[in-house]
Amino acid sequence: MSETFDVVVAGAGPVGLMLACELRLAGVEVLVVERLTEIDRTIKAGAINVPTAQAFDRRGLLPELLAHQQAAVERMKAFTGATAGAANRPPIAGHFAGIMLSFDLIDAEDPAFAGVGPAGRAVLVSQQGIEEILGARAAELGVVVRRGVHLTDLTDHGDAVTVRCRADESSGGEESSRSGEIRASWLVGCDGGRSTVRKLAGFDFPGIGPEITGRQAVVEMSETEGLQPGWHDTDHGIYVYGPTPGRFLTVELDGPPVDRDAPITAAELEASLRRVAGVPVRVSAVRSATRFTDNTRQVPDYRKGRVLLAGDAAHVHSPFGGQGLNLGIGDAVCLGWKLAAVVDGRMDERLLDTYTAERYPIGAWVLEWTRAQVALMRLDRRSKALRAVMSELLSTGDGATTVFKRISGVLHRYHLGGDHELVGTIVPDRDLSDGTRVAEHFTSGQGVLFDFADSAELRAAAAPWQDRVRIVTAKPLAASDETGVGAAAGVLVRPDGYVAWAATEGVEGVTTALTRWFGR
Ligand SMILES: Cc1cc2nc3c(=O)[nH]c(=O)nc-3n(C[C@H](O)[C@H](O)[C@H](O)COP(=O)(O)OP(=O)(O)OC[C@H]3O[C@@H](n4cnc5c(N)ncnc54)[C@H](O)[C@@H]3O)c2cc1C
Repeated sequence: MSETFDVVVAGAGPVGLMLACELRLAGVEVLVVERLTEIDRTIKAGAINVPTAQAFDRRGLLPELLAHQQAAVERMKAFTGATAGAANRPPIAGHFAGIMLSFDLIDAEDPAFAGVGPAGRAVLVSQQGIEEILGARAAELGVVVRRGVHLTDLTDHGDAVTVRCRADESSGGEESSRSGEIRASWLVGCDGGRSTVRKLAGFDFPGIGPEITGRQAVVEMSETEGLQPGWHDTDHGIYVYGPTPGRFLTVELDGPPVDRDAPITAAELEASLRRVAGVPVRVSAVRSATRFTDNTRQVPDYRKGRVLLAGDAAHVHSPFGGQGLNLGIGDAVCLGWKLAAVVDGRMDERLLDTYTAERYPIGAWVLEWTRAQVALMRLDRRSKALRAVMSELLSTGDGATTVFKRISGVLHRYHLGGDHELVGTIVPDRDLSDGTRVAEHFTSGQGVLFDFADSAELRAAAAPWQDRVRIVTAKPLAASDETGVGAAAGVLVRPDGYVAWAATEGVEGVTTALTRWFGR
């Protein structure tokens, strides 16, 4: 007999774990199957953006992010302190195709940054840090995570899905409960760029093929005197040295790797770094290494019957600009509460259509920006000339601020309709008159109606939804903005932090928004 769950999530990467936590928080019975027996320590994402940090903050996980960041800062200090010249570089807010954005140039007073709140302090958190935090949270919440288990097949019956799994013999545990069939109402493929779920379910995956080979590694090496910390474009490609000891990245624009699955050797890494940097380094041992390309693809619809995709399973692109993990976390946060409401029977399946509608455009934007960055890395003279123009623009306050606003994620919007400028934005985080902060009201995973004008009429209008929407009566402090939260009388926020309704007075439209997002 097969086991049953409400939702099976394939993959315990950052996206699968985030989704599982969101589902479980809403009471869903969720199983995560992960083929690896432990967290993948291969070097990947090293930083997070504002919406990711805010999503963690809303679930009470900001202290964990900051603790991981502190450890990363200590490691970096050890490296930069030991490296001549590094201390004099300006602090860097990010980059576009390796053209650095200096923090000093960015206009911190730009209104787009006004609602970031303390989550904005969490930036340098690695992918492994994210997975550790989410793994611990998943365990606390009672998510069933089975490691060493491969999803190998699936059948969508129309009203349920059957998945078939194979357990690694080496992974231990009760083989019989780990291999075999599992039946679920829904399956979500969070199984990465080469997603088995995507292939088995037959999703289209249009886009453009790769033209570069990137290598990122942490190694033991010597003869490094000629390497300069930071990002460098040379006549043979790009190399980045640091920001921690032994870490480097190379980009060569001579096509994709011949065999992406071949083991990455010290000889391959040494040869690549020598070619690109022109420095006769010696690589003696590989601690962690990965190859990447600029294969750029996105599924047109993130749902096919009872199967959904999130994270790299739904979109792949080069890592330039550091967006992939953030994009996937955003998918998980958007999907989690919606799928939970559908599983619970409170909401119609049509709510899931809004998942693709909201997430596809942000994914498409990320893909375009990564394509543009690869174009700026090309070695021909025209591309180099264009890169020089872009460098000049990004050395201005307006240029750096414009690009940083995009890559930090503070401009993310969903097109939810409604007249008020806050609708479709992430709710600005503000201190409130009752001593709390806006973000602190989301730890239970429910929606929140902020009753900023102490309006009995607004509370009465929302009363029928009180089992799924918390009502908070308090005023925002430091309300200097005349049109945003500071001037709003009421703001209805979905569990994912996005504003569904807002008004400067009255309650018009609030019951429509409550019904649309939280059911009748
Ligand atoms: C060099 C590099 C640098 C990067 N830098 C950044 C950055 O700075 N910022 C950023 O935001 N992003 C960055 N990224 C991108 C980021 O790493 C990915 O976008 C992120 O890992 C996607 O998360 P995911 O959970 O969707 O997929 P993954 O992390 O790939 O997780 C998928 C999981 O599914 C499991 N799995 C696969 N198939 C199966 C199966 N059949 N059965 C069971 N389990 C399965 C895998 O083992 C894996 O654990 C970088 C990527 C690379 C390669």
